[in-house]
Amino acid sequence: MADSLKFIVDQNVGRLVKWLRIMGYDTIFFNGSNDSRMIATALAEGRVILTRDTQIMRRRVVTKGLLKAILIQSDDPEQQMLQVIEMLNLDCNFRPFALCLECNEYLVERSKEQVKNRVPPYVFKTQSQYMQCPSCCRIYWRGTHWQAMTKRLEHFMEC
Ligand SMILES: [Zn+2]
Repeated sequence: MADSLKFIVDQNVGRLVKWLRIMGYDTIFFNGSNDSRMIATALAEGRVILTRDTQIMRRRVVTKGLLKAILIQSDDPEQQMLQVIEMLNLDCNFRPFALCLECNEYLVERSKEQVKNRVPPYVFKTQSQYMQCPSCCRIYWRGTHWQAMTKRLEHFMEC
């Protein structure tokens, strides 16, 4: 079940976008004020709404269970993540390294040769596995930044 979860994140809880993408969950950010448009997108694409807006929770599509929406309780991004992970039983190791954190596009594997001269020399020396976003062309590798983020995710799981 959790495998097919997709999200649309309201701008009032925008910090959740990056974390969900790190975990590999298809997540889009709704950067607008028109609730009806967000709801229409969620329905059309089968996305769960994450929001702090109680008005959305009162919409008929939500109260009738046609659309799943989660009212985020806390102001604190870590607490927000914990709430989503707990309520939906998310797997923090679901599909790490699968999505571009900027574009939400699936990353494509690249060989070491393909990224030569496109990553810093010390990275090229130490990393053997690379992924690239087909949209923004950003190259990803499991460097220290990545490791720090996954550590934090593991910390969420232990809470
Ligand atoms: Zn990208």
